[in-house]
Amino acid sequence: MRTIGRFAPSPTGPLHFGSLVAAVASWLDARAAGGEWHLRIEDVDTTRTVPGAEATILRQLESLGLTWDGLVVRQSERTARYDEALEHLASARLAYRCRCSRKEIADSALRGIDGVVYPGTCRDAHVPDQEAAAVRFRVSAGRVAVQDRAQGDIAQDLPRDLGDFVVKRRDGLHAYQLAVVVDDADLGVTDVVRGADLLDSTPRQAALQRALGLPTPRYLHVPVATRNGEKLSKQTLAPAIEASRAMEALRNALVFLGQEPSAGGTVRALLCDAAARWDPNRIPRHRAMEAPPAP
Ligand SMILES: [Zn+2]
Repeated sequence: MRTIGRFAPSPTGPLHFGSLVAAVASWLDARAAGGEWHLRIEDVDTTRTVPGAEATILRQLESLGLTWDGLVVRQSERTARYDEALEHLASARLAYRCRCSRKEIADSALRGIDGVVYPGTCRDAHVPDQEAAAVRFRVSAGRVAVQDRAQGDIAQDLPRDLGDFVVKRRDGLHAYQLAVVVDDADLGVTDVVRGADLLDSTPRQAALQRALGLPTPRYLHVPVATRNGEKLSKQTLAPAIEASRAMEALRNALVFLGQEPSAGGTVRALLCDAAARWDPNRIPRHRAMEAPPAP
């Protein structure tokens, strides 16, 4: 089966070292296998989209030599597909409308891996369509285990660790967990390579894949880049990757991923060599690691 990988940045700002690591790892993993690499803009939460950020990301990827296949996919243009998936879940009685306020849920005493465990208040409430409500996925009993190529097995007991989780928000926006599962299946993604901050989301996504009759891709979660222990992000003022320092940035990303960069005089040569030598077994088995000093 042909390898299909993807990189899925959110258009909330320019690429920084943390997002570059995920881009490089997924690009190399796909190219080393002679496969395709797709670019998806994760703008399902349109309230977070920063105007101009997508164009900047595309320019940065070009200057870094990280070429993609096919057209750029945008989640904001795919809401009809997410609604189809929701209908599928609803018809299988695996989704229901929830009218609970944030406060009502916060009052639940149980805490799980991602905040408060939803206590299932609305499971049998049959909240009418006219009423503003979120849509939740009904998780089933038992553990969901997913193998990760770098981090080992991850298993969760979704009812205990999380409870029924939101697949469509009360404000009408589809939840990331649903969108990513539908998108990866529609692209035919065989290998998801991304930052380990999403490791804890993976069993949720695997549960949705099963419920929707979709295949579960292979997963490879790479360490998240941190500065003073905090994940690099726009909030921590991580500097944007500059085109003039593309070589240095790529070399730093390769070293961060445990690979040995060649002398390669151009970004193309450097990436070509890196793909030929790509060894996922050398990726550090950590969820997070300090980034090198900014150039
Ligand atoms: Zn509820």
